[in-house]
Amino acid sequence: MDDHSPSPTTVASTSDQPSTTITPPLSRYESQKRRDWNTFLQYLKNHKPPLTLSRCSGAHVIEFLKYLDQFGKTKVHLTSCSFFGFPNPPGPCTCPLRQAWGSLDALIGRLRAAYEENGGSSDSNPFGARAVRIYLREVKDSQGKARGVPYEKKKKRKRVVGGSSTKTSVAVVDDGGGSGGGGSSSEYVPVTSTV
Ligand SMILES: [Zn+2]
Repeated sequence: MDDHSPSPTTVASTSDQPSTTITPPLSRYESQKRRDWNTFLQYLKNHKPPLTLSRCSGAHVIEFLKYLDQFGKTKVHLTSCSFFGFPNPPGPCTCPLRQAWGSLDALIGRLRAAYEENGGSSDSNPFGARAVRIYLREVKDSQGKARGVPYEKKKKRKRVVGGSSTKTSVAVVDDGGGSGGGGSSSEYVPVTSTV
């Protein structure tokens, strides 16, 4: 991709953005980030009582994350469930579906960046709030236990190195640990429903 060294002054302005930086064509991450951001703004808009970005706190961000759980696809066993702690339960159960920790973690990362790209200061970034970090850690912890998935660094599990499949949602073996910045877009459903 870096076959041309861009010189800051001669930016071929392809985008309609104020050209502060060189804007490469939207990567998957970028477009995902944009989508997430819009989803969040939408969420604020529908929030009751009304909420503006400037008044948004870490608590609101957590609220947003909890709200997203209803779109989750990751089974998180309750402690009362006999499958608690089993990564691959031998049977069905009635435990709730949630957003996998890895998805939330990646999502927060994108929103945090988007917030600052949209003029927010890093000091007031609600996505970087301590409460949010703590919440994520708790989710990680409890999901790890409930699903028997230790989120450890040493995960060098087999990756799907199938050349044929592009980014179609191939059996996203919902391991909560996101594959780095990418995040599984299959998990997270935007809330653009104006029903
Ligand atoms: Zn269960």
